[in-house]
Amino acid sequence: MKWDPSLEIQFLKGVGPAFAEILKKKGIYTFKDLIEYYPRTYQDLSFNKKISELEEGENASLKLKYIDSKKIRIGKMKSITSLVFSDGSEVLEAKFFKSPYKGYFNQFEPQCMVQVSGKVKSYRGQFEMAHPDITFIKDDPVAETDLQASSSSKEDITPVYPESERLNQKKIRTLIDTAFSLIIEESKTTPKSENHWLYDPVPLKIKEKYKLMDHFEAVKQLHYPSLDFDSLKNFADGRTRAHLTLVFEEFFTFELLTAIRKKDFKRQPGVPVTADTESFVKEFLKTAVPFKLTKDQGVTLKEIIDDIKKTSPMHRLVQGDVGSGKTLVALASAYAVIKSGFQATIMAPTEILAEQHLKNAKKFFKDLGIETVCLTGKLKTSEKKILKEHIASGEAKLVVGTHALFEDDVVFKNLNLVIVDEQHRFGVHQRQRLKSKGGHPHFLVMTATPIPRTLTMTLYGDLDLSFIKTMPPGRTPVRTKKFNQKDRQTVIEKVKDELHLGHQAYFVFPLVSESEALDLKSAEYEYESLIEELKPYNVGLLHGKMKPSEKEEIMTDFRDNKIQALVSTTVIEVGVDVPNATVMVIENCERFGLSQLHQLRGRVGRGSGKSSCYLLLGNKFSKEGFYRACIMEKTSDGFEISEEDLKLRGPGEVLGVRQSGLPAFKLADLMKHQKVLAAARASAFDFAKDTTSEAYIREFKKKNSKKLLLGEVS
Ligand code: ADP
Ligand code: MG
Repeated sequence: MKWDPSLEIQFLKGVGPAFAEILKKKGIYTFKDLIEYYPRTYQDLSFNKKISELEEGENASLKLKYIDSKKIRIGKMKSITSLVFSDGSEVLEAKFFKSPYKGYFNQFEPQCMVQVSGKVKSYRGQFEMAHPDITFIKDDPVAETDLQASSSSKEDITPVYPESERLNQKKIRTLIDTAFSLIIEESKTTPKSENHWLYDPVPLKIKEKYKLMDHFEAVKQLHYPSLDFDSLKNFADGRTRAHLTLVFEEFFTFELLTAIRKKDFKRQPGVPVTADTESFVKEFLKTAVPFKLTKDQGVTLKEIIDDIKKTSPMHRLVQGDVGSGKTLVALASAYAVIKSGFQATIMAPTEILAEQHLKNAKKFFKDLGIETVCLTGKLKTSEKKILKEHIASGEAKLVVGTHALFEDDVVFKNLNLVIVDEQHRFGVHQRQRLKSKGGHPHFLVMTATPIPRTLTMTLYGDLDLSFIKTMPPGRTPVRTKKFNQKDRQTVIEKVKDELHLGHQAYFVFPLVSESEALDLKSAEYEYESLIEELKPYNVGLLHGKMKPSEKEEIMTDFRDNKIQALVSTTVIEVGVDVPNATVMVIENCERFGLSQLHQLRGRVGRGSGKSSCYLLLGNKFSKEGFYRACIMEKTSDGFEISEEDLKLRGPGEVLGVRQSGLPAFKLADLMKHQKVLAAARASAFDFAKDTTSEAYIREFKKKNSKKLLLGEVS
């Protein structure tokens, strides 16, 4: 058998179709995926400490014999499994609150030898570890391959792979050994330059600059570690030169693809807005806008205008907090585009938000003779038909809408500006589909969910960025204070004070209906008591389970001040703009994430008056929940909050990996390797610009054609 990185894994010796399925679940589809299935951590096999020599709190690794297991009941439903190990004189228990995977405990046979690594704890005079890493120690050393002889003469460190029910350490080890012996075999007959398994994404001069290792050597060191290369600690922390080399490669590949995509996008034939764009913008600001733009608005608007006058399509992301004035900037740009003879569209994630945009646009455009329409899913077919005709004929100049805009029969006459609001709710895919609606229109994304810098670079690396950080004048930050349940009455009194002044209030709850098990407050239940507590004011209820028409009615009543206090779930998160609402109470605030709290709070403080936000902690709350409330008290800067959110939850959670299109790196970690990312990004973008790189880039594109395509359509 010959080594071929692209071969399907089932063709590897020892892997049949059934086993291949198990491997695929772990992301191993090809030979290449297998050698890129990197160890999760490493254990020190040379460690021979006795249990009696352990110290509480240390991280230790011991060779032990498995004796027995027992189940310990805790509470009605739960139990702990404890595995008992011995070193001949004393015992150590490994406690598992849940099984690492189904069937995990079944693999332990009495008297088998294992390596146990973890943090030492002392409990009732005996040492134990919680969820340690356990690997079986080979009793029958596999026949020495060339490879083991060459790179792992001292069996001092052993890799620990991510395992699963039917894929234990031993099986993975065997597969890796098979793969590497194939590679070694091949390397004997094929010159290095032709070895396609060696493909190294990083050009030599960049490798030299950052002192990166040879690609294959690096991969090999991860699977066949040795203290000759680096310390156990560096291996376990993923900080060996081999690790950093591979991390750099992953980032570099990703960033070079991004750079190429950006370059290719810019090469597409866009239609410049050639008419006198600046004077249209001036006219709009003079006639329709009763205030002066903030500095950041001005800068952003100029960036957009400069972009749309070019022959390559604009591709820009505007980030700014709720209320920072993004929409106004977008409308000014749309006006310029429309006055130059084109159509523009604004796309929103929800109907409420689409309608808000429509209202807003009509307010600014009303005296300017621009037909603005709104296409949403809830329209009758006949109504849609008429709108679509207006869109196709070019009479409708500004088209606001939701996903309904994606439908195939929505045809524009001469669309040249696509504005997408609240980007993170749209997939890249949808972004692509809308772009296909008319040549290569200029493209503007607005997001009110500030994204941490590192993520912006990675996720929106192919977009140009504008930031609106300053808020329109006259806005005071929302005073935010957390309270315990016992002080709830104080909070209610504060709300009433606001209502007496003629203002309005929001009450936000995490759930729609009562859930006893969780001891959380729910909107429906609390609504009833708030009606009493807030008398004589009118209280309304709004939640996601209501029909759109019911929601609409409640929202309208609240906007028109027929309702003074709105009890709701998180549905008010987007799209509600009632400047007279000056106070918000968030119940069970510990249940909400930081970015959600920030979004919610953005609903108040939209008028000129002082606004407040009261965060009510539930009876029980986690440390993190409390900490989030503290951060909210401390700052109102969305960018700062997003950085905190990232620290607390990690990038996957912050963005929701699937919908975000965050690349699945194998070793690279956006948080841990920020410096490597910055270096890889800078080198990749410089490299893409360099004219001498062309041949290399052609080859790179060929090698990565799938990824490049994926980025374009997914
Ligand atoms: P965003 O889209 O960023 O949430 P908007 O564009 O909707 O913000 O602006 C929020 C509110 O502030 C709107 O009522 C808008 O008319 C107003 N506004 C926008 N820019 C300014 C400004 N420069 N000065 C005063 N008010 C502004
Ligand atoms: Mg907005």
